[in-house]
Amino acid sequence: MKLLFLGTGTAGSKRKYEHEIEAHRRRCSSLLLDENVLVDTPKQSFDYATKLGVDTSLITDVFLSHLHSDHYNKEAFLNWVNAAKGKINLWCGKRIAQGLELSEEELEKVNLCPIEEMDEFDVAGMHVVALPANHAGVHALHYVFEKDGKRLYYGLDGAWFTPLEWRYIHGSGLAFDAMIIDSTNLSHDPIKYGNYGEHNNYLLLPVVVQTLQGSGVAGENTKLIAGHIGPHMNDVEAIEYIKSLGMIPAYDGLVLEI
Ligand SMILES: [Zn+2]
Ligand SMILES: [Zn+2]
Repeated sequence: MKLLFLGTGTAGSKRKYEHEIEAHRRRCSSLLLDENVLVDTPKQSFDYATKLGVDTSLITDVFLSHLHSDHYNKEAFLNWVNAAKGKINLWCGKRIAQGLELSEEELEKVNLCPIEEMDEFDVAGMHVVALPANHAGVHALHYVFEKDGKRLYYGLDGAWFTPLEWRYIHGSGLAFDAMIIDSTNLSHDPIKYGNYGEHNNYLLLPVVVQTLQGSGVAGENTKLIAGHIGPHMNDVEAIEYIKSLGMIPAYDGLVLEI
């Protein structure tokens, strides 16, 4: 499975178009899996993918984690829809479908597939599991994607695992090949942990890593990837910190094969 990170940052860029993104600034978080599966459609996602030379006509399935505007932007989403050769399957939580704000005409262009926490299904050559995220009471979902014997956990946004999520990722007994972990609040200053309970932070991130590794969820070969990296710490310092935990700091345009 090929992972292309189309954005690795947080809400700070949610209003900026691709051409307004400064060199030091991360785009809002979005991920392309192989050629055809997209996770989240923030404002810059379509234009950045186009800039990178992605064939946007190949997208068949879009998964939304939640509707915070650094993850779902209607204009960008419709760009993906209009570029696709076929009708896109839009997978999102049942309780957030109303918030997509798509007109009837726009809805006709997609195959809306509402899902619930703990749903499991097969699509686009993958086995997918939707897990409840610990995030802001907005019914956010995390996902597990399995394809060709490889297993990816997508954990943006969220803080420490919800009980059902942990039960699945630990109880399933199989190690992951890669896990993308929320790394939003990397500040030395706890006073800046305004959203302490819904995003991982400087103090919690090492505990998450140790727990994943200590419990066997992450094995020796599991790539632990830091994503949704906030601007609370100088980015160079944040990257050093992430590396010191044995994690891979994601960056916009990063390609990883698992
Ligand atoms: Zn976010
Ligand atoms: Zn969010």
